[in-house]
Amino acid sequence: MDFVQEQARRIPVKGTFDVIVAGSGPSGVSAALRAAECGAETLLIEQNGCLGGMWTAGLLGWMIDHDKTESRLLIRLKTELRKRCSAAGSPPCSGSFAFEPECMKLLLEELCEEAGVHLRLYTTVAGTILREGGAIDCVLTESKSGREAWRAKLFLDATGDGDLGALSGASFDAGSSEEGRFQPMSMLAVLTGIRLPEILRYVNGCTPRAEAVGNLHDLLAANGAEPSYHDASLFFLSDELFLLMANHEYRVSGCDADDLTRSAIAARREIHSQIAALRRSGPEWRHLTVACTAERIGVREGRRIRGLYSVSLADLLEGRRQPDAICHVRAGIDVHALNPSFSNGFADHKYKSKPYDIPLRSLISADVPNLILTGRCISGDFYAHASYRVTGNMVPLGEAAGVLAALSARENRPPARIPYERLRQNL
Ligand SMILES: Cc1cc2nc3c(=O)[nH]c(=O)nc-3n(C[C@H](O)[C@H](O)[C@H](O)COP(=O)(O)OP(=O)(O)OC[C@H]3O[C@@H](n4cnc5c(N)ncnc54)[C@H](O)[C@@H]3O)c2cc1C
Repeated sequence: MDFVQEQARRIPVKGTFDVIVAGSGPSGVSAALRAAECGAETLLIEQNGCLGGMWTAGLLGWMIDHDKTESRLLIRLKTELRKRCSAAGSPPCSGSFAFEPECMKLLLEELCEEAGVHLRLYTTVAGTILREGGAIDCVLTESKSGREAWRAKLFLDATGDGDLGALSGASFDAGSSEEGRFQPMSMLAVLTGIRLPEILRYVNGCTPRAEAVGNLHDLLAANGAEPSYHDASLFFLSDELFLLMANHEYRVSGCDADDLTRSAIAARREIHSQIAALRRSGPEWRHLTVACTAERIGVREGRRIRGLYSVSLADLLEGRRQPDAICHVRAGIDVHALNPSFSNGFADHKYKSKPYDIPLRSLISADVPNLILTGRCISGDFYAHASYRVTGNMVPLGEAAGVLAALSARENRPPARIPYERLRQNL
């Protein structure tokens, strides 16, 4: 391989904060909100042009594991979405919480403004400078403004893929230990031009899931568009809008820009050919239109940064409770087929989880003293991640991470030395 040597250069320090959060997905934005509400000067850095990660740039207007939550922020988000967006809430025939991604974008921006979170969009965290002892001194970002440095006492990795942890030299795991492969990626699309009563038998939740995905699969296949995700799914978002998840990109990594590029192009092409097939399939589909495909292809998993505790399959099978619980997960293990030859959309695995706790320790980096993890890059194994990663859990994780960071910054103590009881009092 050919290499060039980059010249050393002076980088402006753009600001100093108590807390910097990298990534504004469901978990990062929750962390930033709670840190700011606890009085920490908080900067939220996001590479997209909007807040919300999969909820917005990924078009995922479908929350799982939200209904029995104790998370104050999640309850507030749902209340606000119901108030602001005509159709948000539980769709006519399913227990999940549906919302229009556009509505979530605006809500998150307003909440961050109200809480006093400093925002930097269109900016990628691309490096770190470490202090002696391995703590992060500042993050380095790349954007239209060039390369910049941002200093803080505490740093939160909420990038989903664990970019900040990896850039800081933290140890991590990735993929399945059995096969070393990542779950497939999927690009989502918002569709319009169809009416619920006419396509009820294809809509997840309105018709029992297994039946609905079977009907949609058969319809696509019969019209020449056999879906790469066998369990192609259609969800109802509002009277005018539906969410389509019907493609899988196999054996690719969300931490490889070439894989992301190829996958996004292939997935978008497949979506459009599926739409053409559905339009041919009958009068109820004739006016079907793609309102938009996601700006970012959905990456189910990336790096899992090692923490003081790693949530394991054994915890899920046992339904283990934790002395420092911050989130009680009810979602089951959801491993999408790692291999296109699997005949259904999911990997054939034999495990059945019981509701279990995520401990605060799994959010504290084992290696970098002032690094806190939140979101899908927290410390856990492949199967545990395949359960806790849904967005109803990402919010309470973020809240705990944000409060922990704020306390740690205020008290000038590493996160590992903040007593759990203090955290609970402030949650
Ligand atoms: C295809 C698909 C379908 C899913 N279906 C469901 C579902 O139906 N219901 C459900 O509840 N969950 C679902 N999930 C799971 C859920 O969406 C994710 O696990 C969840 O969004 C993770 O939240 P997060 O905050 O950790 O990360 P993400 O939502 O991935 O957000 C990470 C954010 O960090 C930003 N970022 C990344 N790297 C950098 C960097 N270096 N610098 C700056 N910013 C950066 C990203 O742009 C993004 O905004 C699905 C996931 C996928 C991919």
